[in-house]
Amino acid sequence: MIFPEKYQLIRKLARDFAEKELTSEILDEVEDTKVFPKDILKKMAQAGFFGIKVPRKYGGQGSDHLAYVVTVEEIARVSAVGSLYVNSPNSLGGMSILVAGTEEQKMRYLKPMVEGDIVIPFGLTEPGGGSDAGDIRTTAVKDGDYYILNGRKTFITMAPFADYSIIYAKIGKGPGKEGVTAFIVDMTLPGVSVGKEEEKMGLIGCATSDVILEDVRVHKDNILGEIGSGFKDAMRCLDVGRLGVAAQAAGVAQACLDEAVKYAKERKQFGKFLYEHQSIAFMIADMATKLKAAKELVYDAALTKDHGGNTTMASAIAKYYASEICNELAAKSLQIHGGYGFVRGFKIERLYRDSRVFTIYEGTSQIQQIVISRQLFGK
Ligand SMILES: Cc1cc2nc3c(=O)[nH]c(=O)nc-3n(C[C@H](O)[C@H](O)[C@H](O)COP(=O)(O)OP(=O)(O)OC[C@H]3O[C@@H](n4cnc5c(N)ncnc54)[C@H](O)[C@@H]3O)c2cc1C
Repeated sequence: MIFPEKYQLIRKLARDFAEKELTSEILDEVEDTKVFPKDILKKMAQAGFFGIKVPRKYGGQGSDHLAYVVTVEEIARVSAVGSLYVNSPNSLGGMSILVAGTEEQKMRYLKPMVEGDIVIPFGLTEPGGGSDAGDIRTTAVKDGDYYILNGRKTFITMAPFADYSIIYAKIGKGPGKEGVTAFIVDMTLPGVSVGKEEEKMGLIGCATSDVILEDVRVHKDNILGEIGSGFKDAMRCLDVGRLGVAAQAAGVAQACLDEAVKYAKERKQFGKFLYEHQSIAFMIADMATKLKAAKELVYDAALTKDHGGNTTMASAIAKYYASEICNELAAKSLQIHGGYGFVRGFKIERLYRDSRVFTIYEGTSQIQQIVISRQLFGK
């Protein structure tokens, strides 16, 4: 796709930022310490990366989904974990409030979120309900002006250092998704705690843990959206979240291709550079072709969202394809690196680990196939 000048400038801004701030020394340190530098997060906020689509009146950039995916892609090309920090406020956390929040809630939470002063994760998954996200066991029982929340959310990105969390809980004993309602839960409330930080294989530097709710009293003013509309609203957020994951995957896949090309031009075997062996050159040609197709799907899904089309279908297709080919490109790029790809020190080793989650979170590839086929067959 040939981008209008505005998006070329946005891409340049994100690329320059990533290349200047997220140096390999800093990224190695993040892997070692498991901590992402706070000063870089502050700079990301100042660059406007946390509120790309958030309207200006709530402190955001007031831009669109195409700007969002271009930014995420460029950050992910340099650092997948860095792109997660950009993705989260723009997609699930911030979107939940944009989609369903009252004017007062938008004013109260969005501005500090885009300025990087507060962190608001998205708490949908439970230990027994990942793909089957509607099977929510966390309960909310009315008690005067309050709701008493009990339950456990699992794999919640940024939970260990969150200020608030969107929590999906079930009101009443109706069947299936009936009664599922979103709450904005202050993480300092009595009864809220977080589990042990997960030891992840990739995206190191952005902590993930359970959120545990034990008799947590949440005021009714902190209900997000209508009572019972939680599942529908969560799925609307996931349409945008999946777009963000697709953009992350496209960025990481680009990095995998870049590393393969670089190494194939440096390494000689049998007296020839690797790229002079036709099987390697053709492997890289296939990688470039699939990456191009994935990027076009990502941009198409963003434009579909910006122009009011069927985002559910377009985002699921983009997320499914981009995340699958990202894994394929990571594996092939590592293969081209031979034994050196298997040891720390070469960038491809981290890219391979980081890429693995893209076919899993925000709906696995199998769930995307279900979403796409349901759209096709109208079920
Ligand atoms: C690093 C990380 C960060 C995350 N961040 C968040 C977050 O911030 N907030 C949040 O709410 N969640 C988060 N998640 C949770 C994530 O969305 C879930 O892990 C994901 O949806 C899959 O659920 P599960 O792990 O329970 O796997 P399961 O649902 O148990 O799936 C196991 C396998 O079965 C397959 N499967 C399941 N159902 C079907 C079916 N009907 N047909 C065919 N195959 C099926 C799946 O595709 C998968 O291969 C995160 C996960 C990870 C790993």
